[in-house]
Amino acid sequence: MRNWLQRFNARVSRLMMGRYGIDELGSLLLISGIVMSLLSLIRPLFWLAIPAFFIIAWSYFRCFSKNIGKRQSELSKYWGIKNRIRSRLEFLKKKRRDKTHKYYRCKLCKTVLRVPKGRGKIQITCPKCKNRMIKKT
Ligand SMILES: [Zn+2]
Repeated sequence: MRNWLQRFNARVSRLMMGRYGIDELGSLLLISGIVMSLLSLIRPLFWLAIPAFFIIAWSYFRCFSKNIGKRQSELSKYWGIKNRIRSRLEFLKKKRRDKTHKYYRCKLCKTVLRVPKGRGKIQITCPKCKNRMIKKT
């Protein structure tokens, strides 16, 4: 039994030599593919089997790929998207908790502007690009 397992492990490591393997993106793809294929067993969600198949195939492709540089750049792109979503969610949470201020985004430079609530119509000047806007607070 032990011998068999060792032989199997040696075979797997030989197979994986020079290949990318699994990373955070790969495991996320695999897990979401498995979840989608389980959900596709529910009749009205049967169509989920199609994207599930492609997502799982993608995660296998990445795992066995020999183009490690390309896979790493995909991973860093994924991290960028993940961080953007996380900071966006944190901002929304902060905004919801803050009962005394209103938040606006500057149309020109996208800076977030925080102004006190209940002051009526006011002119807001963006501290970064000096763009002016009139808002009701
Ligand atoms: Zn601005």
